[in-house]
Parts: sequence; structure tokens; C-alpha cells
Amino acid sequence: MNKSQENWIAEGEAAFYKTYNRYPVVFERGEGICLYDSDGEKYLDFYAGIAVNALGYGDPEFTKAIQEQAGKLLHVSNYFYNIPSIEAGEKLLAASQMDKVFFTNSGTEAVEGALKIARRYGYNKDGKHDHEIIAMANSFHGRSMGALSVTGNDHYQEPFKPLIPGIRFAEFNNLDSVKALFNEKTSAVIMETIQGEGGIYPAEKEFLEGVRKLCDEYDALLILDEIQCGMGRSGKMFAWQNYGVKPDVMTVAKALGNGVPVGAFLARGKASTCMVPGDHGATYGGNPFVCAAASKVLDLFKEREIPAHAAKMGEYLWKRLEEIKESFPVVTDHRGMGLIQGLEFSIPVGPVVSDALLKEKLVLISAGTNVIRFIPPLIIEEKDVDEMTARLTRVLKAVKAE
Ligand SMILES: *Cc1c(COP(=O)(O)O)cnc(C)c1O
Repeated sequence: MNKSQENWIAEGEAAFYKTYNRYPVVFERGEGICLYDSDGEKYLDFYAGIAVNALGYGDPEFTKAIQEQAGKLLHVSNYFYNIPSIEAGEKLLAASQMDKVFFTNSGTEAVEGALKIARRYGYNKDGKHDHEIIAMANSFHGRSMGALSVTGNDHYQEPFKPLIPGIRFAEFNNLDSVKALFNEKTSAVIMETIQGEGGIYPAEKEFLEGVRKLCDEYDALLILDEIQCGMGRSGKMFAWQNYGVKPDVMTVAKALGNGVPVGAFLARGKASTCMVPGDHGATYGGNPFVCAAASKVLDLFKEREIPAHAAKMGEYLWKRLEEIKESFPVVTDHRGMGLIQGLEFSIPVGPVVSDALLKEKLVLISAGTNVIRFIPPLIIEEKDVDEMTARLTRVLKAVKAE
């Protein structure tokens, strides 16, 4: 007999080290932009595994590419060359206009690599260990000790202190606050081009331009974390391409592997040569399997013009979410660009997200306490946006009635 969702959930709770409060749903398979739970119920997905499943579920071309690679070669280590990683690297460099790439297993590891570039860059200047990195309040860069050290969230940091030294926090979109922290010891600024977890805050153009200028003045590196907002989601391949401001180092992950765990840090110019052999490594990083996935993702993004599609669908989503904002006074703000948008509420959104999932079979994700994030697969069409807003409207009506 098949196990019920309830049984699976009980077994999962008994087994897992508890660091998550999960929703009571067991997803078993996906198709297009829909997920199915283990009881066979169908859900509309505007969450995309946290901005990962850009091409949706079960794309035949993507599936074929990873199946073929799985049968050929999964792993060889970085002491040899492998063809998928060379191809994926070349494609990623072409898309990002950067000079060098290092493949990682996750976003967090990409951030770690970027932080090591910053440390190395400062150290190369004067052999001293007192260099500083400026990070942003309300940011998110990952959960390892390094990435957590630049994540501007007291709640995440507090139990794990002391974190790495030399990190100073400025306010996002407040250029004066960044300027106030800059000095000769500053080796880098790290920020998300669009803050994701923090509640969908796009950088303002003047802010990004101003930070770029400060970095140039002080010979510091600009690191842009594009792990969530990158890979077409903003309407351009990388969000910074909307601003005409180029980073020295950038991080990608999430949608890069469309569900296969792969990330990368990329660097250009002076940042692309400051680490040397022995400085960094990863056993799995850039193995043939994950790179065949990334390579295919990059091909399909190009062939299908996914960023342009995301821009177009983003405009439509913007229009429909504006209507929701106007209809429901609990919605107090609407931010974002392309297919990374957020609605801010005057109330905690946990119950809304939960009702959407359980009552309307609509998969949504919050960002912080008061924001619902809309980060669907990038292949959505207008009718999917309509279906999503219809379901969300029903949920919000019920919330209002309660
Ligand atoms: C998700 C995320 C990370 C961490 O990536 P993982 O793959 O979870 O390690 C880092 N930065 C940003 C902006 C993210 O959204």
C-alpha cells in the first residue's frame, strides 16, 4: 500500500535534524510549472524551489542532456579537465562579460569564494590582515560562517558569533552610509543587486553607480550576489545588466543548474588573477554532471530568449499585482522587476502563504515576515499569472473576512 503524506511527514520529522518548519506537503513530481504531491494533487508553482527551477519541471531537452551525461561521466575531480565544465564556463563568461569562472556546489560556496577573492586582494596589496569588507543590512548571502558573516540579519547571526572579523554593515540604497564606512582598509563591497530574502528591494541606480565609484576610488572590489536575481529573472541575464554598472566579482547559483546543484563565482580584471593555485578548491565543484546541466540551461536560455520572456511576463505580473494591491488595503507596497517581485503586507504573511498552499494549491514563498515573493519558473505565460492572481485573490478575500 502507498504511504499517505501524513505517514511520510511523520517519518521525515523523525529522521531530519530539525532546522526547518516545513509545510505539510510531500511533493513527488513536477511537470511544466505544476507540482504534484504524493497523493496526486496538483499545485501551481510560483516559488520555483526558491528561484531555482527557471525552466520548470521535466523539460524534455534538459532532462535528456543530464540523462546522457549521467551515463557518460559524473565526476573526475578538478585535477583533470572535463569538457562540460569548459563549455559551461565559456557560455557563462560570454553571458556575464566576466573573465574567469570557478564552479561551486551551491550559492553559499560561491559567496565564500568571492569573500576569499576580497581577502586575497587586500592581502596582495600590503601583506596585512586588517582589510575590511562592507556588506549590507537586510541582506542574505548564505549560511556558512563566511557567508553568514556578511548576511545582515541579527537573528541568523546571533547564536553563531563570533563570525569572521572585518565586516562592516551599511544600509542598502543609502550611499552616505556606505561612504561613511569606506577607508584605505576596505577591500570589497558585497551586496545583492536585488535583495531577495530581505523582501525584494532592487538597488537604486544612483546607489549602485555610487558604490561602483567608491570602489574605484579606494581600489576595492565590487561583489554582486546574483544568486537569486540573476539568470534571466530580472529581465536581463544578470540584474546588474539593467543598471550599466559592472561588478568585479559576481556569484551565481540557483537557476544555473535548474535543480542540479551548481553555482559559480566569476571575476574580471584585477579580481580575476589575485588567487593562485592552492588558494581554493572543491572536490565536486564543476564536475561533468552538474556542468552538463548548466551548459544546457545556458543554451536553452539563449535559444528560447528566456530573459526577454521574463521581462515580458514580469510586466504582466506587475500589472496584475498592482490590481491586487489596489483591491486589498492590507497590501502596502509592491516592488521588484521582471519575475522577482514582492508584495508587502501590513500583516504577517505566513497564514496567507499557508492558505494559498493548502486551500488553493498555489505555491508561494514569503520573504521576511511581511512580504510575499513571486519568483515563478521563467517559462510562465499570461494565463498562469491570471490563474495565480485568481487563487491569491480568493485567499485574500478570506483573510479579510476573518
Ligand atoms: C539562496 C541565496 C544564497 C545561498 O545559496 P545556497 O545555494 O542556498 O547556498 C546566497 N545569496 C543569495 C542572494 C541567495 O538568494
